[in-house]
Amino acid sequence: MKYPPLKNYINGNFVTSNTSRCLPVISPVDGTLLTEVPLSTNDDLHNAVEAAREAFHTWSKTPIKERVQVFFRYKYLLEKHLDELADLCSEENGKTKGESIAEIEKCIELTEFACSLPQIVTGELLEVSKGVECRTEHVPLGVVASIVPFNFPSMVPNWTIPNAIALGNCMIMKPSEKVPVSCGRIAELLKEAGLPDGVFNVVHGDAEIVEAICDHPGIEAVSFVGSTRVAKIVYQRATHNYKRCLALGGAKNHLMVMPDAIAGMTAQNVVASMSGCAGQRCMAASAMVGVGSIDHIIDRICEEARKIIPGKNLGAVINKESKDRIEKYITDAEQQGAIILVDGRNAKVNGKENGTYVGPTVIDYVKPEMSVAKEEIFGPVISIMRTNTVDEALAIENANPYGNAASVFTQNGGVARYVIERASAGMVGVNIGVPVPREPFSFGGWNESKFGVGDITGKSSVEFWTKLKKSTVKWNPEAGVNWMS
Ligand code: NAD
Repeated sequence: MKYPPLKNYINGNFVTSNTSRCLPVISPVDGTLLTEVPLSTNDDLHNAVEAAREAFHTWSKTPIKERVQVFFRYKYLLEKHLDELADLCSEENGKTKGESIAEIEKCIELTEFACSLPQIVTGELLEVSKGVECRTEHVPLGVVASIVPFNFPSMVPNWTIPNAIALGNCMIMKPSEKVPVSCGRIAELLKEAGLPDGVFNVVHGDAEIVEAICDHPGIEAVSFVGSTRVAKIVYQRATHNYKRCLALGGAKNHLMVMPDAIAGMTAQNVVASMSGCAGQRCMAASAMVGVGSIDHIIDRICEEARKIIPGKNLGAVINKESKDRIEKYITDAEQQGAIILVDGRNAKVNGKENGTYVGPTVIDYVKPEMSVAKEEIFGPVISIMRTNTVDEALAIENANPYGNAASVFTQNGGVARYVIERASAGMVGVNIGVPVPREPFSFGGWNESKFGVGDITGKSSVEFWTKLKKSTVKWNPEAGVNWMS
């Protein structure tokens, strides 16, 4: 085992869980046993919540301009340790070093945004009648929980950590049991940055501890990022217990390619989107709908896909179960009559025989009713469907229950606007394969890709992590009394 068994992080210390259950953490890169993750007990969670509640008294009363000083220092520490954090990310998740560097750079951008929060949460003040002022203030909620998936061991935790904590909350982080190592390092860096003990805590575990989080009376709000199946469970359970909840789910993102699209640029974007992070991004292109005559663009897509080599510029998928699931989708599509133009099944990387790799896969002549066209695959696979009109393409996109991202590739501004207005997705792109809005814009899908109000990052996250205090104030007797005061 490469690292000692993991501990929880409670009240500024790494503490051994009192559980007898744990899971191995295996690197998808080459099958190395990295460590063991404890499946924490309700007592572990309770200790973390108590520590966070205690810390909240002081942290919530610390002015926001002081609170963000921690994140200025944290940003510097992320920069200083970028290489080491990226190595850790690649080791536990399987993505390439370049992708991991980009992930840590995104953590830095998220932290920069949190540092700007004092300029955003200034509240409002108005003299509403003579001598009477109304004021609104953003007040932190209390102890909040963040439950995260395996595909971004550092970035998704950092979607929530800087904003929620800079806004005055104390946090319980529940990392993915598949990639639990990075969060411990994040805890160390936050402490080094000067975050008081108890403000940030890490409790490891699986479904059981997530249920305990949803039930714990000391937790005010739960944010969740993961599959739609679990997002629904978490959203129902947390809101049943009267907690505020924002639960982001899975995705099936459609790229609509018009015949006038610039072939080279389109092909590069399609392939980068479907194969980046081995297709394990909730913003990855998974389905492409080609409108009219696009054979020349599909040829270029295949050319680009063949440049993507497992173990070189393509990372591993998270585990054997995932590899088998992805390859089954490809085989099923083939058996149902689709044509596999580039086949990523049975990928092997020399010297990393125990790694779990799937090569880039391009499937043509997919029908909308095939499971490869409808379901989230979460692997480097693009399913191409063909239509005659943009309305038919939009009908396919609209019929999908998810709604994270959609993109159109065209040189026609009118067509682009038409698609932006009609795509049933929270994030839409024009000639962009991965239309992630960057800070200060907010990230969030629609339909079965998100449950709850607001978005998880950017300005919109302020509404989720705070509640409004409204005060109405009068000091001078000469202001008198009227119907409103
Ligand atoms: P997952 O839903 O299996 O797990 C997410 C978290 O939920 C983990 O911490 C896990 O321990 C916990 N969990 C698992 N099963 C549970 C259960 N039955 N009850 C309660 N908690 C449970 O997701 P994953 O496989 O780790 O991540 C991949 C998924 O996440 C994909 O569907 C992807 O699209 C989605 N995702 C979405 C976004 C987004 O922004 N919408 C971002 C990243 C990932």
